[in-house]
Amino acid sequence: MVKIKSAEEIELMRESALIVSKTLGMLASEIKPGVNALYLDELAETFIRDHGAEPGFLGMYDFPNTLNMSPNAQVVHGIPNKEPLKDGDIISVDCGALKNEYYGDHAYTFEVGEVAPEVKKLLKVTKESLYIGIREFKVGNRVGDVGYAIQNYCESFGYGVVRELVGHGLGKKLHESPEMPNYGKRGRGKKFAEGMTVAIEPMINMGTKNIKQLKDGWTILTADGKPSAHFEHDVAIVNGKPELLSTFKYIYDALGITSDEEDEFRQTKLQS
Ligand code: MG
Ligand code: MG
Repeated sequence: MVKIKSAEEIELMRESALIVSKTLGMLASEIKPGVNALYLDELAETFIRDHGAEPGFLGMYDFPNTLNMSPNAQVVHGIPNKEPLKDGDIISVDCGALKNEYYGDHAYTFEVGEVAPEVKKLLKVTKESLYIGIREFKVGNRVGDVGYAIQNYCESFGYGVVRELVGHGLGKKLHESPEMPNYGKRGRGKKFAEGMTVAIEPMINMGTKNIKQLKDGWTILTADGKPSAHFEHDVAIVNGKPELLSTFKYIYDALGITSDEEDEFRQTKLQS
């Protein structure tokens, strides 16, 4: 059942979403060649606890760490390890936090050093598809409208849209109803309503959409070994329209990037 949130609950969710957004912003300046994912994971855990929250993924379904760290051909659910990041790698960082009983869940694929142009393009298109999907998350639309928009855009570049993993409702549970696939048919599926809160998270592969799983029971990789990208925002429907709860602002501040990509989804001014 979809849990509709009150304005007060959405404010609490914004607080949780801002904690994960700031955590990724803190990591943005730490991600460089030679650094390992386990070190970044420890930084994130300390940062989240220092902000009065709990790591959202640690122990969830027995996951051993704070961050999902998925480099290169890993799609999602990578377990942080001591392997140093290399120049030209990409790494998808997915972060969860729990505060005031509500979850934030937010992901960004970072470039490590200088990345190949075709990989940069995959990241750009995947992030664009996230906003194209978010634009469809409004009263009057349905789950399939979001999925269709993301799929249609990414497939027009020849990319593979992962089927087995999907976005989701978000709130007191990390995974609430409805499922939010990154593929679908227009006008199909659950109807959106005021006060719905979801995580929209395209997982897009440069090559085939097919995936495999490592024996660790977690790590998801592309079947063809080509790179994969993952971007995730937390979004609420406010006044009938999509309102971003999470933000990439802190990442962009750290990396010196100027962007107005979130402006149209922001009815409430962001605290700095
Ligand atoms: Mg996530
Ligand atoms: Mg998620």
